[in-house]
Amino acid sequence: MGKSMDAIMALCKRRGFVYQASEIYGGINGFWDYGPLGTLLKRNLREAWWQDMIMNPCWGRQGPDGEPVRCVPVETRIIQHPRVWEASGHVGGFNDPMVDCKACKSRFRADHLIALPLHALTSVETAGEQSREVFVFYGLGTPAEVRQQRAKEIARLEAQRTLQSLVPPLVYLHNYETLKADFECPACRQRGSLTAPRQFNLMFKTYVGATASEDDIAYLRPETAQGIFVQFKNVVDTTRIKVPFGIGNVGTSFRNEVTPRNFTFRSREFEQAELEFFCHPDDSQGWYRFWRDFRMEWWRSIGLAGDNLQLREHDQDELSHYSTGTCDVEYRFPFTAPDFGELEGVAHRGCFDLTQHQEHSRVKLDYFDQERGELLPNGSRKGERYIPHVIEPAAGLDRGALALICEAYTVDESRPSPEIMKFHPRMAPIKAAVFPLVNKDGMPEVAQKLTDELRARFGRHGLIESDPKQSIGKRYARMDEAGCPYCFTIDGDTLTDQTVTVRDRDSGAQERIAIDKVSGYLSERLGL
Ligand code: ATP
Repeated sequence: MGKSMDAIMALCKRRGFVYQASEIYGGINGFWDYGPLGTLLKRNLREAWWQDMIMNPCWGRQGPDGEPVRCVPVETRIIQHPRVWEASGHVGGFNDPMVDCKACKSRFRADHLIALPLHALTSVETAGEQSREVFVFYGLGTPAEVRQQRAKEIARLEAQRTLQSLVPPLVYLHNYETLKADFECPACRQRGSLTAPRQFNLMFKTYVGATASEDDIAYLRPETAQGIFVQFKNVVDTTRIKVPFGIGNVGTSFRNEVTPRNFTFRSREFEQAELEFFCHPDDSQGWYRFWRDFRMEWWRSIGLAGDNLQLREHDQDELSHYSTGTCDVEYRFPFTAPDFGELEGVAHRGCFDLTQHQEHSRVKLDYFDQERGELLPNGSRKGERYIPHVIEPAAGLDRGALALICEAYTVDESRPSPEIMKFHPRMAPIKAAVFPLVNKDGMPEVAQKLTDELRARFGRHGLIESDPKQSIGKRYARMDEAGCPYCFTIDGDTLTDQTVTVRDRDSGAQERIAIDKVSGYLSERLGL
Protein backbone atom coordinates (compact mmCIF):
# COMPACT_ATOMS: atom_id res chain seq x y z
CA MET A 1 0.00 0.00 0.00
CA GLY A 2 1.18 3.52 -0.74
CA LYS A 3 2.16 5.96 1.95
CA SER A 4 -0.64 8.07 3.39
CA MET A 5 -0.14 11.78 2.83
CA ASP A 6 -2.49 12.51 5.73
CA ALA A 7 -0.28 10.46 8.06
CA ILE A 8 2.85 12.20 6.75
CA MET A 9 1.30 15.64 7.23
CA ALA A 10 0.16 14.70 10.73
CA LEU A 11 3.66 13.59 11.66
CA CYS A 12 5.12 16.77 10.15
CA LYS A 13 2.87 18.86 12.38
CA ARG A 14 3.26 16.69 15.49
CA ARG A 15 7.05 16.58 15.36
CA GLY A 16 7.63 20.15 14.21
CA PHE A 17 8.69 19.66 10.62
CA VAL A 18 6.07 21.81 8.89
CA TYR A 19 3.37 24.14 10.21
CA GLN A 20 0.70 26.07 8.41
CA ALA A 21 1.80 29.70 8.10
CA SER A 22 -0.22 32.05 10.34
CA GLU A 23 -2.01 29.02 11.72
CA ILE A 24 -3.52 30.79 14.73
CA TYR A 25 -5.31 33.10 12.28
CA GLY A 26 -6.63 30.21 10.24
CA GLY A 27 -3.63 29.87 7.94
CA ILE A 28 -2.99 31.46 4.57
CA ASN A 29 -3.37 29.38 1.46
CA GLY A 30 -0.13 28.48 -0.25
CA PHE A 31 2.23 29.42 2.60
CA TRP A 32 3.97 27.05 5.00
CA ASP A 33 6.43 27.53 7.84
CA TYR A 34 9.04 25.08 9.05
CA GLY A 35 9.26 24.04 12.68
CA PRO A 36 12.57 23.23 14.40
CA LEU A 37 13.15 19.83 12.76
CA GLY A 38 11.94 20.97 9.33
CA THR A 39 14.19 24.02 9.47
CA LEU A 40 17.18 21.79 10.20
CA LEU A 41 16.22 19.33 7.47
CA LYS A 42 15.95 22.08 4.89
CA ARG A 43 19.19 23.62 6.07
CA ASN A 44 20.93 20.27 5.54
CA LEU A 45 19.49 20.07 2.03
CA ARG A 46 20.54 23.64 1.22
CA GLU A 47 24.00 23.03 2.69
CA ALA A 48 24.43 19.85 0.66
CA TRP A 49 23.51 21.72 -2.52
CA TRP A 50 25.88 24.55 -1.61
CA GLN A 51 28.70 22.18 -0.81
CA ASP A 52 28.30 19.89 -3.83
CA MET A 53 27.50 22.60 -6.40
CA ILE A 54 29.59 25.59 -5.31
CA MET A 55 32.29 24.75 -2.76
CA ASN A 56 33.36 21.42 -4.23
CA PRO A 57 31.36 21.22 -7.44
CA CYS A 58 30.32 17.72 -8.51
CA TRP A 59 32.45 16.16 -5.75
CA GLY A 60 35.65 17.31 -7.45
CA ARG A 61 34.85 15.58 -10.73
CA GLN A 62 36.01 16.70 -14.11
CA GLY A 63 33.55 18.09 -16.63
CA PRO A 64 33.30 16.91 -20.24
CA ASP A 65 36.27 19.18 -21.07
CA GLY A 66 38.51 17.17 -18.72
CA GLU A 67 38.89 20.11 -16.31
CA PRO A 68 37.50 20.38 -12.78
CA VAL A 69 34.03 21.98 -12.74
CA ARG A 70 34.16 25.60 -11.57
CA CYS A 71 31.28 27.43 -9.87
CA VAL A 72 30.90 30.64 -7.88
CA PRO A 73 27.98 31.99 -5.86
CA VAL A 74 25.99 35.21 -5.97
CA GLU A 75 23.25 36.43 -3.70
CA THR A 76 20.82 38.61 -5.57
CA ARG A 77 17.72 40.48 -4.46
CA ILE A 78 14.10 39.43 -4.52
CA ILE A 79 13.18 42.78 -6.03
CA GLN A 80 14.92 43.64 -9.27
CA HIS A 81 14.37 46.42 -11.76
CA PRO A 82 10.97 45.72 -13.35
CA ARG A 83 12.61 45.64 -16.78
CA VAL A 84 14.44 42.47 -15.76
CA TRP A 85 11.10 40.70 -15.85
CA GLU A 86 10.11 42.28 -19.14
CA ALA A 87 13.35 41.02 -20.68
CA SER A 88 12.96 37.56 -19.18
CA GLY A 89 9.44 37.27 -20.53
CA HIS A 90 7.80 36.98 -17.13
CA VAL A 91 5.77 40.20 -17.31
CA GLY A 92 4.33 39.31 -20.70
CA GLY A 93 4.24 35.58 -20.58
CA PHE A 94 4.31 34.13 -17.09
CA ASN A 95 0.68 33.28 -17.13
CA ASP A 96 -1.38 30.33 -16.18
CA PRO A 97 -4.84 29.90 -17.60
CA MET A 98 -7.27 29.66 -14.73
CA VAL A 99 -10.70 28.08 -14.69
CA ASP A 100 -13.29 28.28 -11.91
CA CYS A 101 -16.21 25.99 -11.27
CA LYS A 102 -19.31 28.09 -10.73
CA ALA A 103 -21.03 25.23 -8.94
CA CYS A 104 -18.50 24.14 -6.31
CA LYS A 105 -16.11 27.13 -6.46
CA SER A 106 -13.09 24.91 -7.11
CA ARG A 107 -10.30 26.49 -9.09
CA PHE A 108 -8.06 24.72 -11.58
CA ARG A 109 -5.27 25.45 -13.93
CA ALA A 110 -6.79 24.87 -17.34
CA ASP A 111 -3.69 22.97 -18.40
CA HIS A 112 -4.11 20.67 -15.41
CA LEU A 113 -7.62 19.73 -16.39
CA ILE A 114 -6.79 16.39 -17.79
CA ALA A 115 -9.75 14.22 -16.92
CA LEU A 116 -11.82 15.76 -19.64
CA PRO A 117 -12.79 14.78 -23.15
CA LEU A 118 -10.04 15.26 -25.69
CA HIS A 119 -10.33 18.40 -27.76
CA ALA A 120 -7.65 19.90 -29.87
CA LEU A 121 -8.24 23.06 -31.75
CA THR A 122 -5.98 25.64 -33.23
CA SER A 123 -6.40 29.28 -33.73
CA VAL A 124 -4.04 32.06 -34.55
CA GLU A 125 -3.42 34.75 -32.03
CA THR A 126 -1.41 37.87 -32.62
CA ALA A 127 1.33 38.28 -30.07
CA GLY A 128 3.35 41.41 -30.79
CA GLU A 129 4.26 41.37 -34.46
CA GLN A 130 4.33 37.62 -34.63
CA SER A 131 1.51 35.28 -35.35
CA ARG A 132 1.76 32.10 -33.42
CA GLU A 133 -0.05 28.88 -33.13
CA VAL A 134 -2.19 28.59 -30.07
CA PHE A 135 -3.48 25.28 -28.89
CA VAL A 136 -6.40 24.18 -26.92
CA PHE A 137 -5.78 20.76 -25.65
CA TYR A 138 -7.53 18.65 -23.13
CA GLY A 139 -6.65 15.02 -22.79
CA LEU A 140 -8.07 12.15 -20.90
CA GLY A 141 -5.92 10.01 -18.62
CA THR A 142 -2.76 10.29 -16.56
CA PRO A 143 -0.32 13.11 -17.36
CA ALA A 144 1.93 10.65 -19.23
CA GLU A 145 -0.98 9.47 -21.35
CA VAL A 146 -2.11 13.01 -21.96
CA ARG A 147 1.39 13.97 -23.06
CA GLN A 148 1.35 11.13 -25.56
CA GLN A 149 -2.05 12.13 -26.85
CA ARG A 150 -0.88 15.69 -27.15
CA ALA A 151 2.22 14.68 -29.09
CA LYS A 152 0.03 12.70 -31.50
CA GLU A 153 -2.34 15.59 -31.89
CA ILE A 154 0.51 17.96 -32.63
CA ALA A 155 1.93 15.55 -35.20
CA ARG A 156 -1.49 15.45 -36.85
CA LEU A 157 -1.71 19.25 -36.91
CA GLU A 158 1.83 19.49 -38.19
CA ALA A 159 0.96 17.20 -41.06
CA GLN A 160 -1.89 19.51 -41.96
CA ARG A 161 0.22 22.62 -42.10
CA THR A 162 3.56 23.96 -41.02
CA LEU A 163 3.78 25.09 -37.47
CA GLN A 164 6.00 28.12 -37.44
CA SER A 165 6.43 28.30 -33.76
CA LEU A 166 4.93 26.43 -30.92
CA VAL A 167 4.75 27.99 -27.51
CA PRO A 168 3.89 25.22 -25.11
CA PRO A 169 2.34 24.81 -22.71
CA LEU A 170 -0.07 27.39 -23.97
CA VAL A 171 -3.67 26.57 -23.51
CA TYR A 172 -6.17 28.91 -24.95
CA LEU A 173 -9.78 28.08 -25.10
CA HIS A 174 -10.94 28.94 -28.53
CA ASN A 175 -14.66 29.06 -28.99
CA TYR A 176 -15.19 28.03 -25.40
CA GLU A 177 -18.82 29.04 -25.25
CA THR A 178 -19.82 26.51 -27.90
CA LEU A 179 -17.86 23.76 -26.21
CA LYS A 180 -18.57 24.51 -22.61
CA ALA A 181 -21.30 21.92 -22.27
CA ASP A 182 -18.73 19.17 -22.91
CA PHE A 183 -16.52 20.04 -19.97
CA GLU A 184 -17.20 18.74 -16.56
CA CYS A 185 -15.75 19.96 -13.27
CA PRO A 186 -13.20 17.40 -12.01
CA ALA A 187 -14.26 18.15 -8.42
CA CYS A 188 -18.06 18.16 -8.44
CA ARG A 189 -18.55 16.52 -11.85
CA GLN A 190 -21.09 19.07 -12.97
CA ARG A 191 -21.13 19.68 -16.69
CA GLY A 192 -20.98 23.16 -18.12
CA SER A 193 -20.10 24.75 -14.79
CA LEU A 194 -16.55 25.82 -15.64
CA THR A 195 -15.80 29.42 -16.52
CA ALA A 196 -13.71 30.19 -19.58
CA PRO A 197 -10.00 30.24 -18.78
CA ARG A 198 -8.62 33.60 -17.78
CA GLN A 199 -4.96 34.38 -18.04
CA PHE A 200 -3.49 34.96 -14.63
CA ASN A 201 -0.04 36.45 -14.15
CA LEU A 202 1.85 34.57 -11.48
CA MET A 203 4.01 37.45 -10.33
CA PHE A 204 3.35 39.17 -7.03
CA LYS A 205 3.27 42.94 -7.42
CA THR A 206 4.37 45.51 -4.93
CA TYR A 207 5.36 49.16 -4.87
CA VAL A 208 8.81 50.55 -4.24
CA GLY A 209 8.80 53.90 -2.43
CA ALA A 210 6.08 55.91 -0.79
CA THR A 211 3.84 57.04 -3.61
CA ALA A 212 2.43 53.69 -4.72
CA SER A 213 1.84 54.94 -8.24
CA GLU A 214 1.92 52.84 -11.42
CA ASP A 215 5.51 53.99 -11.99
CA ASP A 216 6.60 52.41 -8.72
CA ILE A 217 5.35 48.90 -9.43
CA ALA A 218 7.90 46.18 -8.79
CA TYR A 219 7.65 42.42 -8.71
CA LEU A 220 8.74 39.77 -6.27
CA ARG A 221 11.01 37.44 -8.20
CA PRO A 222 9.38 34.27 -9.53
CA GLU A 223 12.80 32.62 -9.87
CA THR A 224 16.34 33.28 -8.70
CA ALA A 225 17.86 32.63 -12.13
CA GLN A 226 17.40 36.12 -13.59
CA GLY A 227 19.50 37.62 -10.80
CA ILE A 228 22.38 35.52 -12.12
CA PHE A 229 22.00 36.60 -15.74
CA VAL A 230 21.90 40.28 -14.87
CA GLN A 231 25.11 39.95 -12.84
CA PHE A 232 26.92 37.75 -15.37
CA LYS A 233 29.04 40.61 -16.69
CA ASN A 234 30.02 41.78 -13.20
CA VAL A 235 31.09 38.28 -12.21
CA VAL A 236 33.22 37.91 -15.35
CA ASP A 237 34.74 41.38 -14.91
CA THR A 238 35.49 41.14 -11.19
CA THR A 239 36.75 37.59 -10.79
CA ARG A 240 39.31 35.56 -12.65
CA ILE A 241 36.82 32.86 -13.53
CA LYS A 242 36.63 31.79 -17.18
CA VAL A 243 34.00 30.08 -19.31
CA PRO A 244 33.00 27.29 -18.80
CA PHE A 245 31.80 28.07 -15.29
CA GLY A 246 28.64 28.21 -13.23
CA ILE A 247 27.02 30.84 -11.02
CA GLY A 248 24.77 29.61 -8.23
CA ASN A 249 22.02 31.51 -6.44
CA VAL A 250 19.88 30.26 -3.58
CA GLY A 251 16.86 32.04 -2.20
CA THR A 252 13.18 32.66 -1.90
CA SER A 253 10.95 32.98 -4.93
CA PHE A 254 7.28 33.87 -5.16
CA ARG A 255 4.57 32.73 -7.52
CA ASN A 256 0.96 33.61 -7.05
CA GLU A 257 0.00 30.05 -7.99
CA VAL A 258 -3.59 29.63 -9.15
CA THR A 259 -4.07 26.47 -7.19
CA PRO A 260 -1.56 25.99 -4.40
CA ARG A 261 -1.90 22.39 -3.28
CA ASN A 262 -0.34 19.16 -2.20
CA PHE A 263 1.16 20.41 1.03
CA THR A 264 4.35 22.36 0.31
CA PHE A 265 4.68 21.00 -3.25
CA ARG A 266 3.00 23.97 -4.87
CA SER A 267 3.42 26.94 -2.56
CA ARG A 268 3.23 30.65 -3.24
CA GLU A 269 6.52 31.32 -1.47
CA PHE A 270 9.31 28.78 -1.85
CA GLU A 271 13.05 28.46 -2.01
CA GLN A 272 15.08 27.65 -5.07
CA ALA A 273 18.68 26.63 -5.60
CA GLU A 274 19.62 27.46 -9.16
CA LEU A 275 22.81 27.21 -11.14
CA GLU A 276 23.42 28.83 -14.50
CA PHE A 277 26.35 27.14 -16.19
CA PHE A 278 27.90 29.19 -19.00
CA CYS A 279 29.77 27.43 -21.79
CA HIS A 280 30.75 27.68 -25.44
CA PRO A 281 27.84 26.81 -27.78
CA ASP A 282 29.82 23.90 -29.29
CA ASP A 283 30.28 22.31 -25.88
CA SER A 284 26.76 22.87 -24.63
CA GLN A 285 25.27 19.48 -25.43
CA GLY A 286 28.08 17.74 -23.52
CA TRP A 287 27.51 20.00 -20.52
CA TYR A 288 23.77 19.47 -20.72
CA ARG A 289 24.23 15.70 -20.45
CA PHE A 290 26.82 16.14 -17.72
CA TRP A 291 24.55 18.25 -15.51
CA ARG A 292 21.50 16.11 -16.15
CA ASP A 293 23.35 13.00 -15.03
CA PHE A 294 25.04 14.64 -12.09
CA ARG A 295 21.85 16.15 -10.72
CA MET A 296 20.13 12.78 -10.83
CA GLU A 297 23.07 11.18 -9.05
CA TRP A 298 23.07 13.95 -6.46
CA TRP A 299 19.44 13.47 -5.47
CA ARG A 300 20.15 9.76 -5.18
CA SER A 301 23.13 10.43 -2.94
CA ILE A 302 21.02 12.19 -0.34
CA GLY A 303 18.54 9.41 0.05
CA LEU A 304 16.12 9.39 -2.89
CA ALA A 305 17.73 6.19 -4.00
CA GLY A 306 14.85 3.96 -4.98
CA ASP A 307 12.59 3.79 -8.01
CA ASN A 308 10.57 6.76 -6.75
CA LEU A 309 13.11 8.95 -8.51
CA GLN A 310 13.23 9.27 -12.27
CA LEU A 311 14.69 11.44 -14.98
CA ARG A 312 12.26 12.46 -17.68
CA GLU A 313 13.46 14.03 -20.90
CA HIS A 314 10.91 16.45 -22.28
CA ASP A 315 9.26 15.56 -25.54
CA GLN A 316 10.04 17.79 -28.46
CA ASP A 317 6.66 19.49 -28.16
CA GLU A 318 7.20 20.35 -24.50
CA LEU A 319 10.44 22.25 -25.07
CA SER A 320 10.57 26.04 -24.85
CA HIS A 321 11.28 27.57 -28.22
CA TYR A 322 14.88 28.40 -27.18
CA SER A 323 15.71 25.03 -25.64
CA THR A 324 17.36 22.11 -27.37
CA GLY A 325 17.01 19.85 -24.38
CA THR A 326 15.22 19.89 -21.04
CA CYS A 327 14.63 17.19 -18.52
CA ASP A 328 13.05 16.97 -15.12
CA VAL A 329 14.26 15.09 -12.10
CA GLU A 330 10.98 13.76 -10.78
CA TYR A 331 9.85 12.10 -7.59
CA ARG A 332 6.83 9.87 -7.12
CA PHE A 333 5.10 11.67 -4.26
CA PRO A 334 2.23 9.87 -2.51
CA PHE A 335 -0.14 12.47 -4.00
CA THR A 336 1.18 12.12 -7.56
CA ALA A 337 1.52 8.31 -7.56
CA PRO A 338 1.56 6.43 -9.86
CA ASP A 339 2.81 9.58 -11.60
CA PHE A 340 5.74 11.75 -10.69
CA GLY A 341 6.15 15.43 -9.74
CA GLU A 342 9.02 17.73 -10.69
CA LEU A 343 11.81 18.29 -8.16
CA GLU A 344 14.26 19.98 -10.45
CA GLY A 345 14.40 21.05 -14.07
CA VAL A 346 17.62 20.85 -16.04
CA ALA A 347 17.33 23.00 -19.15
CA HIS A 348 19.57 23.86 -22.05
CA ARG A 349 18.57 27.50 -22.43
CA GLY A 350 20.87 28.35 -25.33
CA CYS A 351 21.82 32.03 -25.33
CA PHE A 352 18.23 33.13 -24.82
CA ASP A 353 18.53 34.90 -21.47
CA LEU A 354 21.79 36.76 -22.03
CA THR A 355 20.59 37.86 -25.47
CA GLN A 356 17.30 39.10 -24.05
CA HIS A 357 19.04 41.10 -21.33
CA GLN A 358 21.57 42.43 -23.81
CA GLU A 359 18.76 43.69 -26.04
CA HIS A 360 16.69 45.19 -23.25
CA SER A 361 19.55 46.76 -21.27
CA ARG A 362 21.68 47.67 -24.31
CA VAL A 363 24.70 46.47 -22.35
CA LYS A 364 26.90 43.97 -24.16
CA LEU A 365 26.79 40.62 -22.44
CA ASP A 366 29.05 38.66 -24.75
CA TYR A 367 32.23 37.01 -23.59
CA PHE A 368 35.73 37.23 -25.00
CA ASP A 369 37.32 33.80 -24.85
CA GLN A 370 41.08 34.11 -25.09
CA GLU A 371 41.60 30.42 -25.41
CA ARG A 372 39.64 30.02 -28.66
CA GLY A 373 40.00 31.17 -32.22
CA GLU A 374 42.79 30.69 -34.64
CA LEU A 375 46.30 29.78 -33.46
CA LEU A 376 48.70 32.70 -33.90
CA PRO A 377 52.38 32.35 -34.86
CA ASN A 378 53.40 33.24 -31.29
CA GLY A 379 51.55 30.17 -30.01
CA SER A 380 48.65 32.08 -28.47
CA ARG A 381 45.08 32.16 -29.73
CA LYS A 382 43.33 34.98 -31.52
CA GLY A 383 40.36 34.77 -29.22
CA GLU A 384 36.65 34.47 -29.93
CA ARG A 385 33.73 36.63 -28.90
CA TYR A 386 30.42 34.90 -28.28
CA ILE A 387 27.35 34.84 -26.09
CA PRO A 388 27.73 31.76 -23.91
CA HIS A 389 25.13 29.06 -23.91
CA VAL A 390 23.58 28.17 -20.60
CA ILE A 391 22.68 24.94 -18.88
CA GLU A 392 20.35 25.52 -15.95
CA PRO A 393 19.86 22.97 -13.18
CA ALA A 394 17.02 24.61 -11.17
CA ALA A 395 16.07 22.80 -7.99
CA GLY A 396 13.32 23.52 -5.50
CA LEU A 397 14.40 23.15 -1.90
CA ASP A 398 10.89 22.91 -0.49
CA ARG A 399 9.90 20.22 -2.95
CA GLY A 400 13.23 18.56 -2.21
CA ALA A 401 12.57 18.62 1.53
CA LEU A 402 9.07 17.23 0.93
CA ALA A 403 10.49 14.40 -1.18
CA LEU A 404 13.00 13.62 1.58
CA ILE A 405 10.16 13.54 4.11
CA CYS A 406 7.95 11.31 1.94
CA GLU A 407 10.83 8.95 1.14
CA ALA A 408 11.91 8.74 4.79
CA TYR A 409 8.42 8.06 6.13
CA THR A 410 8.16 4.36 6.93
CA VAL A 411 5.58 2.38 8.84
CA ASP A 412 6.78 -0.81 10.50
CA GLU A 413 3.89 -2.39 12.37
CA SER A 414 6.22 -4.88 14.04
CA ARG A 415 7.82 -2.07 16.07
CA PRO A 416 6.26 -0.74 19.29
CA SER A 417 6.10 2.71 17.73
CA PRO A 418 5.62 2.07 14.04
CA GLU A 419 6.36 5.44 12.39
CA ILE A 420 10.02 5.90 11.50
CA MET A 421 11.65 8.64 9.45
CA LYS A 422 14.52 6.93 7.65
CA PHE A 423 16.46 10.03 6.61
CA HIS A 424 19.83 9.67 5.00
CA PRO A 425 22.32 10.49 7.82
CA ARG A 426 23.54 13.58 5.93
CA MET A 427 19.99 14.96 5.86
CA ALA A 428 18.90 13.90 9.35
CA PRO A 429 18.11 16.97 11.50
CA ILE A 430 19.20 15.13 14.65
CA LYS A 431 22.47 13.31 14.13
CA ALA A 432 22.56 11.40 17.40
CA ALA A 433 20.94 11.19 20.82
CA VAL A 434 22.51 10.42 24.18
CA PHE A 435 20.33 8.96 26.91
CA PRO A 436 21.08 8.04 30.50
CA LEU A 437 19.04 4.87 31.09
CA VAL A 438 17.86 6.35 34.38
CA ASN A 439 18.21 9.88 35.60
CA LYS A 440 20.43 9.00 38.59
CA ASP A 441 23.40 6.88 39.78
CA GLY A 442 25.96 9.03 37.96
CA MET A 443 24.47 8.25 34.53
CA PRO A 444 23.28 11.82 33.72
CA GLU A 445 26.79 13.15 34.31
CA VAL A 446 28.37 10.62 31.95
CA ALA A 447 25.66 11.32 29.36
CA GLN A 448 26.25 15.05 29.63
CA LYS A 449 29.99 14.61 29.09
CA LEU A 450 29.40 12.47 25.99
CA THR A 451 26.79 14.94 24.69
CA ASP A 452 29.25 17.82 25.08
CA GLU A 453 31.93 15.89 23.24
CA LEU A 454 29.60 14.99 20.34
CA ARG A 455 28.20 18.54 20.11
CA ALA A 456 31.72 19.97 19.88
CA ARG A 457 32.53 17.60 17.04
CA PHE A 458 29.23 17.30 15.11
CA GLY A 459 27.14 20.23 16.35
CA ARG A 460 27.61 22.31 13.22
CA HIS A 461 26.06 19.53 11.12
CA GLY A 462 22.97 18.93 13.22
CA LEU A 463 21.49 18.42 16.64
CA ILE A 464 22.89 16.13 19.28
CA GLU A 465 19.87 15.44 21.43
CA SER A 466 20.07 14.58 25.11
CA ASP A 467 16.98 13.52 26.98
CA PRO A 468 16.98 12.04 30.48
CA LYS A 469 13.20 11.71 30.95
CA GLN A 470 10.56 9.02 30.19
CA SER A 471 10.99 5.32 29.56
CA ILE A 472 13.80 4.40 27.22
CA GLY A 473 11.29 2.87 24.76
CA LYS A 474 9.42 6.18 24.50
CA ARG A 475 12.66 8.06 23.99
CA TYR A 476 13.71 5.70 21.18
CA ALA A 477 10.28 6.08 19.57
CA ARG A 478 10.58 9.87 19.63
CA MET A 479 13.96 9.64 17.95
CA ASP A 480 12.58 7.24 15.30
CA GLU A 481 9.87 9.74 14.42
CA ALA A 482 12.40 12.54 14.23
CA GLY A 483 14.66 10.40 12.05
CA CYS A 484 17.68 10.36 14.39
CA PRO A 485 19.93 7.58 13.05
CA TYR A 486 21.78 6.61 16.26
CA CYS A 487 20.94 6.63 19.98
CA PHE A 488 23.64 6.02 22.61
CA THR A 489 22.50 4.86 26.02
CA ILE A 490 24.46 5.10 29.24
CA ASP A 491 23.48 2.32 31.65
CA GLY A 492 24.78 0.60 34.79
CA ASP A 493 27.50 -1.23 32.86
CA THR A 494 28.86 2.01 31.42
CA LEU A 495 30.02 3.02 34.88
CA THR A 496 32.00 -0.19 35.34
CA ASP A 497 33.24 -1.15 31.85
CA GLN A 498 33.13 2.19 29.97
CA THR A 499 30.82 0.88 27.22
CA VAL A 500 27.48 2.21 25.93
CA THR A 501 24.73 0.66 23.84
CA VAL A 502 24.20 2.06 20.39
CA ARG A 503 20.82 1.58 18.79
CA ASP A 504 20.37 1.70 15.05
CA ARG A 505 17.18 3.50 13.95
CA ASP A 506 16.46 1.43 10.85
CA SER A 507 16.92 -2.06 12.29
CA GLY A 508 16.27 -1.30 15.95
CA ALA A 509 19.33 -3.50 16.67
CA GLN A 510 21.57 -2.66 19.60
CA GLU A 511 25.24 -3.32 20.22
CA ARG A 512 27.78 -2.27 22.83
CA ILE A 513 30.76 -0.15 22.01
CA ALA A 514 33.42 1.58 24.12
CA ILE A 515 32.39 5.08 25.13
CA ASP A 516 35.64 6.52 23.76
CA LYS A 517 34.83 4.99 20.35
CA VAL A 518 31.44 6.75 20.03
CA SER A 519 32.75 9.79 18.23
CA GLY A 520 34.66 7.71 15.67
CA TYR A 521 31.69 5.38 15.23
CA LEU A 522 29.43 8.34 14.40
CA SER A 523 31.93 10.05 12.19
CA GLU A 524 32.31 6.93 10.06
CA ARG A 525 28.57 6.43 9.69
CA LEU A 526 27.64 10.07 9.15
CA GLY A 527 30.46 10.51 6.69
CA LEU A 528 31.63 13.57 8.66
P1 ATP B 1 5.60 23.43 -12.12
O1 ATP B 1 5.46 22.99 -13.56
O2 ATP B 1 5.40 22.33 -11.13
O3 ATP B 1 4.79 24.68 -11.81
P2 ATP B 1 7.95 24.74 -13.02
O4 ATP B 1 8.37 23.87 -14.15
O5 ATP B 1 7.23 26.00 -13.30
O6 ATP B 1 7.13 23.87 -11.94
P3 ATP B 1 10.55 25.81 -12.59
O7 ATP B 1 10.19 27.16 -13.08
O8 ATP B 1 11.35 24.92 -13.48
O9 ATP B 1 9.23 25.04 -12.13
O10 ATP B 1 11.25 25.98 -11.17
C1 ATP B 1 12.31 25.15 -10.74
C2 ATP B 1 11.96 24.43 -9.46
O11 ATP B 1 11.39 25.31 -8.50
C3 ATP B 1 10.90 23.33 -9.64
O12 ATP B 1 11.47 22.13 -10.08
C4 ATP B 1 10.36 23.20 -8.24
O13 ATP B 1 11.17 22.33 -7.46
C5 ATP B 1 10.47 24.60 -7.69
N1 ATP B 1 9.13 25.24 -7.73
C6 ATP B 1 8.56 25.86 -8.77
N2 ATP B 1 7.33 26.32 -8.45
C7 ATP B 1 7.13 25.96 -7.15
C8 ATP B 1 6.07 26.13 -6.22
N3 ATP B 1 4.97 26.81 -6.55
N4 ATP B 1 6.21 25.62 -4.97
C9 ATP B 1 7.32 24.96 -4.61
N5 ATP B 1 8.36 24.77 -5.44
C10 ATP B 1 8.28 25.26 -6.70
